[in-house]
Amino acid sequence: MKLAHVILDIPTQALDAPYTYAVPEEGLFAAACEGAGDEEGADAQCDYAVAVGAAVLVPFGHRRAIGFVVDIREYGQPGGPDWPAEVDPAKLKAIVRAVSRPYFDEEGAACAQWLSERYIAPLSACVRLFTPPGGVARMVRGRDGRWRLEQPAVGEVDDRWVVPGPALAAFSPRKNAVKQAQVVEALRGGELRVAELAAQFGAVSSVLKALEAKDVVRVVRRRRMRGVQGAASGPVTDCNRQHVPSTKPALTAGQAAALSAIERACDAGCGRVVLVDGVTGSGKTEVYLQAIERVLAQGRTACVLVPEISLTPQTVGRFRGRFGDTVAVMHSRMSAGERFDQWDFIRSGAARVVVGARSALFTPLANIGLIVIDEEHEGSYKQDSAPRYHARDVAVWMARRSGAAVVLGSATPSIESLYQCAKNPLWEQVLLPERANGRPMPEVRVVDMAREFAEGSRSMFSAALARGLQEELSAGRKAVLLLNQRGFAKFLLCRECGFVPKCPHCETSLTYHERGNFLICHHCGFRQATPPVCPKCKSPYLKKFGAGTQRVEDELRVVLDGMEGVGLDVPIIRMDADTTSGKGAHQRLLEQFAAADAAVLLGTQMIAKGLDFDDVTLVGVINADTQLQLPDYRAHERTFDLIEQVAGRAGRAELPGRVLVQTYESDAAPIRAAARYDRALFLRDELPKRRLLGYPPYVRMANVLVWGAHEPDVQALAKEIQRDLDKAVHSYGGQDWVVLPATPCVLAKLRNTYRWHVVLKCPADADISRALLPYFRRRKPDKWVNVAVDVDPDDLL
Ligand code: ADP
Ligand code: ZN
Ligand code: ZN
Repeated sequence: MKLAHVILDIPTQALDAPYTYAVPEEGLFAAACEGAGDEEGADAQCDYAVAVGAAVLVPFGHRRAIGFVVDIREYGQPGGPDWPAEVDPAKLKAIVRAVSRPYFDEEGAACAQWLSERYIAPLSACVRLFTPPGGVARMVRGRDGRWRLEQPAVGEVDDRWVVPGPALAAFSPRKNAVKQAQVVEALRGGELRVAELAAQFGAVSSVLKALEAKDVVRVVRRRRMRGVQGAASGPVTDCNRQHVPSTKPALTAGQAAALSAIERACDAGCGRVVLVDGVTGSGKTEVYLQAIERVLAQGRTACVLVPEISLTPQTVGRFRGRFGDTVAVMHSRMSAGERFDQWDFIRSGAARVVVGARSALFTPLANIGLIVIDEEHEGSYKQDSAPRYHARDVAVWMARRSGAAVVLGSATPSIESLYQCAKNPLWEQVLLPERANGRPMPEVRVVDMAREFAEGSRSMFSAALARGLQEELSAGRKAVLLLNQRGFAKFLLCRECGFVPKCPHCETSLTYHERGNFLICHHCGFRQATPPVCPKCKSPYLKKFGAGTQRVEDELRVVLDGMEGVGLDVPIIRMDADTTSGKGAHQRLLEQFAAADAAVLLGTQMIAKGLDFDDVTLVGVINADTQLQLPDYRAHERTFDLIEQVAGRAGRAELPGRVLVQTYESDAAPIRAAARYDRALFLRDELPKRRLLGYPPYVRMANVLVWGAHEPDVQALAKEIQRDLDKAVHSYGGQDWVVLPATPCVLAKLRNTYRWHVVLKCPADADISRALLPYFRRRKPDKWVNVAVDVDPDDLL
């Protein structure tokens, strides 16, 4: 008898072990289908086989549920010698039937299991990573109280095509059959979609039927790829933009060395990692392209991860330019239908290269030889809901299993990756210290805003920055201004009593919006009018502290309009969460900036990466402090990265560039070091602190988040978990491990929920997941208070 392990797709319950079901014999299978008619509706499809990776319908309690098969094995007779002891033959139930074809294979099933253990996450959430965009079949309860199977709304779409038949050449329509003559004439130019004919000639179905009967035409169904086939009516998306074939440049010596390191890693076939540590513009992408080319030539495939925000048509175009139509693209700005089609294109085996955001790792790309993670230091590679995985760690695990190699690229590699290169023989670091075009890196100047203030300036633009803008814009060149808003945006502060208006639901300070003059909470959307006087002491001196892009734009307008030699209407292109929310908005704004002569691009951190404009000669960081002051262990690393990344945007081509960094803390090590491109200086300051305070890479951490609407409950549970973890760590034998006291998070209240956490630290080489897993698997979920474990958290906010 065959037994299957099935992971039930019931996310609200903690069902953290697969369930065992009998696999129905062929006969059973048909019988189940026949009987299914009344329960699941007439559309039930019965022609899927029960296989690993397939969604199946199973009995569960008094109803039926959907699950995913992760394992199938043959066991002899129930109760026989190899029969699993934990399976009671009397209680064993059979899978009703499969409701999809396989979404993943044994390797995917193993990865889901690993993810669930490594990140202490529900198995169902881990398996769901592997299912196609647009959802899977599910059981829904109708108004009559009965459960019925609902297939996903997103799936393949077919177009009907009219293709010339054998009788077309000799066919001549009768005189009065006008429409028939038109259709036949149109088809002599080649095949057409029914929809196109109908748009041109009106209803054509009877004409087509008549022609089909005479073998003049055939009507066939063909799969359509949404977003790809430049359909006249469809929007232009990332996928269907024209790509020009690109030629390979001769590699620089550094690039050639990097490429051969990658080739060695590929040939070793044991999951080696190559960190390409190259300044912005050093030609890392060209190295990836040539490495991929070799992998493809060996018959294997490649997966390229890019931060969501850098997944622009330009980025995709570079891969399509080299590998043409074998490139699949996957990111969240595509519609579900487009993503489904790309997913299915990958599943079909026709896609050889996948370029996508972190979730592209889980697409059904077979035979992967190389996984590239560009900008590997980026925070967006860590998922912030269960499973809280880091794409880098998953890629390394996958590569080790499949004998592939991993390439990490960055101008500012994460401290974790640098540490691995130093300690782990499977990791290698290669340097590209110079730009591919031989241009120097731009000069970075730090502007001390405290001094500007002391000298009487009240503007958010220092004299140096204003002068720089004037010089560049009046010469017809472009500037990029970065307004870093992460964490703390602009808020109101009473100059007399220090009161700061806060969100009543989240306890974070409210962000002030100039236009409309209101305060808003960026976590939950709470909104109120700006008070005219301090609500606490009635003082009228409310200062607007820190600035959002909106106000900077307004102030910049005033500054630019008064500038000599700079026209009154120099475009300011603002890019922030507000202006880029619509589909394609991001791209439109960039194109606007590219098309302009002199112009300023003003934006949040989303502009710091990936932009490659030849005529940007000035980059200004308006407030380096917002990142620096974030109460998190990674704040300094992020500040250093941000300045280096944004500096890389200046002077990429012929024209030299310069960078101005405004800060109230011009002495801070990350800022001084970034200004000199001196990573060693930064690390000399940072690493001893990390070691002393016990932060990665010297320790591993798990952050147990506890949240709920009633703070005393949250606090009580957090404290209980702290005690339980103490015991769990003790019984695991973690002598030098530390369970920190339960405390409120930095973001102590978000969307009306109170947030506490318990942080656990252990030696860098310890298996933190294994120590915690038994406890969290055993824990019964609490109805009112949520608990989530973040293993190797990216921040502790
Ligand atoms: P990175 O990914 O490191 O930021 P890119 O791959 O974008 O760098 O390369 C920067 C620019 O240099 C691109 O315009 C690219 O076409 C060009 N480039 C890369 N390698 C070479 C080379 N070997 N010779 C000439 N130009 C190159
Ligand atoms: Zn006050
Ligand atoms: Zn709020």
